[in-house]
Amino acid sequence: MLKVARYGPVTQIRGGRRLAGRILYQTAAYLVGDLLIDTGCAHTSSELCKLVRDRPLSGVAITHHHEDHVGGLEALQAERAVPAYAHPLALPRLLEPPRRLALYRRVVWGMPPPAQALPLPEELSAGPYRLRVIHTPGHAPDHVAFYEAREGWLFTGDLFISERVRYLRPNESVAAIAASLARLPASDDYTIFCGGGRVVEDGAEAVRRKVEYWRQLREQARALAAQGLSQREIATRLLGREGWLYLFTGGDVAKRHLVRSLLQWP
Ligand SMILES: [Zn+2]
Repeated sequence: MLKVARYGPVTQIRGGRRLAGRILYQTAAYLVGDLLIDTGCAHTSSELCKLVRDRPLSGVAITHHHEDHVGGLEALQAERAVPAYAHPLALPRLLEPPRRLALYRRVVWGMPPPAQALPLPEELSAGPYRLRVIHTPGHAPDHVAFYEAREGWLFTGDLFISERVRYLRPNESVAAIAASLARLPASDDYTIFCGGGRVVEDGAEAVRRKVEYWRQLREQARALAAQGLSQREIATRLLGREGWLYLFTGGDVAKRHLVRSLLQWP
């Protein structure tokens, strides 16, 4: 199920699979000028095609290869024959998606069908808008953000998520995410459009608070590690017990992964 919201000239298309009356983890695509940023998951691909059917579309820009951002790409290209652009590291993953995906990811977002994309140029045209591409690895190696400097719009995929991220997957890196956040525009005046649907004004300030939150957590984690506590114990002490998310994802999304990565952050 998808919902459309307008933020000035930016159209947000947000949603996900509906199960037992509620939408599971939603993702957001954005229509900027005649460019679509991300395509949602496979479960909502036909709905996405219907939603953009009457709109001008010159291309699709992909923030990263995860199934909740590229699941609608193949269906969209079959209908509209528009070019898609992604980071060069994402291209083979789009062409040959993983054969196996954790059960929770298959249930929530579905397997993404193979899709073709071209390597991203440094800048993309989106009707009257220009989007600068910023490589922002950490959540995924092929992750990018898109920045419209004149309008002050920053499309961050899964880079920002929220100010207080308390969980991580094992292959995510706090150090890499923090380095990517430091690469975001120096301007103090931009709005963040998240791949999860959040729209955050005063984006630069929110980014500063996000990094500061992790910095404080790292200091506390280091102090507890020095006392001999295990990473699991540190996670419980600082963030509470692993909850239903840990169980639901089979331990893939966990507080202890965040603690491990915080302790590796130089
Ligand atoms: Zn992702």
